[in-house]
Amino acid sequence: MNSLKSVAINISIPFFIFSVFTLITFYEAKIPKIIFSLVPYLFYAISALIVWVSWHFNRNRFIFIIIPLLLISLGFEYLSASKKTDLFFYASVLYPLHLLLFLSLRERGLFSIWGILKILFFLLEIGVVSYFIAYPNSELIALLKIKLFAISFYPLQDLSVGVAIFVLFIMGILLMFSRYLLYNGSFLVIVITFYAGFYFIKMPHANELSMLAIGIIIFILLIRESYRLAFYDELTSLPGRRALVEDMAKLGIRYSLSMIDIDHFKKFNDTYGHDTGDEVLKMVASKLANVGGGGKAYRYGGEEFVLLFPSKDVDESFMQTDTLRDTIAKSPFIVRNKNSSKTIYINISAGVVQKSSKDKDSFAVMKRADNALYKAKKAGRNQVIKA
Ligand code: GH3
Ligand code: MG
Ligand code: MG
Repeated sequence: MNSLKSVAINISIPFFIFSVFTLITFYEAKIPKIIFSLVPYLFYAISALIVWVSWHFNRNRFIFIIIPLLLISLGFEYLSASKKTDLFFYASVLYPLHLLLFLSLRERGLFSIWGILKILFFLLEIGVVSYFIAYPNSELIALLKIKLFAISFYPLQDLSVGVAIFVLFIMGILLMFSRYLLYNGSFLVIVITFYAGFYFIKMPHANELSMLAIGIIIFILLIRESYRLAFYDELTSLPGRRALVEDMAKLGIRYSLSMIDIDHFKKFNDTYGHDTGDEVLKMVASKLANVGGGGKAYRYGGEEFVLLFPSKDVDESFMQTDTLRDTIAKSPFIVRNKNSSKTIYINISAGVVQKSSKDKDSFAVMKRADNALYKAKKAGRNQVIKA
């Protein structure tokens, strides 16, 4: 289960955007009219940007998510009043389900088999909705306007409220339990923003503003995602070497760090296989991520990690590192084969160092930590040595 803190961090930015746009909608009368005439164009511009960036990052799900919104907004602009009502109805039932589906489907190349199936499904969805808007079918509409609740959520129909409850429930569960917090947090707020825009559709500009808010939420998600790709390690979810270099450049004159290496990892890989080795790396990383004393863990590369302790001396970082070494050495790791399982223990060695005035730069500090680590290895491993 995800910690409430990380859920809150991931949901706060999209929720902030949603709140700002809600305020703008309710205080519409106090804002100069000219600003609202720009809203649709801003939405078209940000949609184009999203399509372009998602295409380049191979994050195609955003293309599938923004295009229906563009079509809905064009429909509201140009269709006749009765067709607009139908579009409102179909969109309010289908779009949240569409969002949930494209959130769950894995990201693949647009022109792989799966990518093409997605495109075909997408075209089918749009085709079916367009057909029923062009040739209204009153029996279908009557069937879908089924009464589910005692109270009315007009202008939303009961069916779309039912869909909302279902989609928000699933997304809430994903947010609490799945590791893709960044996505799940944003998508939950997107669904809420979408329904808010539809529910308050009679208020001037409410729907246009909600679409623009969704565009901005998606765009920020893309920016945060590209940051994560650049600075975070995929396997362990720890910040990687690039993040370490950036963070070290920001440090003051006083700091200490530990260079950590897993013992006999090559032998481990050879005995139990590379995949099990990856599991060990994740386990070790998750322990290191909980480092105390204001430290922060990085995956330096391979089976090497760094703990950085801003404004801490070597004694403090030694103590924290040795505690982690002890914790890891005592944590059982279960290797499962087809019909047997075996408990093994992993050891780490570390070299700890404090920045001194003799160190020319951060690389000199790292070099001394590496030497201390080498000594720990020579001294028999499973130990921490101060430089
Ligand atoms: P020592 O106790 O001296 O550190 O011995 P060692 O075997 O751990 O040292 P060495 O640096 O020679 O081996 C590191 C091994 O780590 C080699 C490589 O196969 C493995 N390794 C590096 N990155 C990964 C990874 O991402 N996944 C897995 N499974 N193994 C990795
Ligand atoms: Mg190594
Ligand atoms: Mg090693």
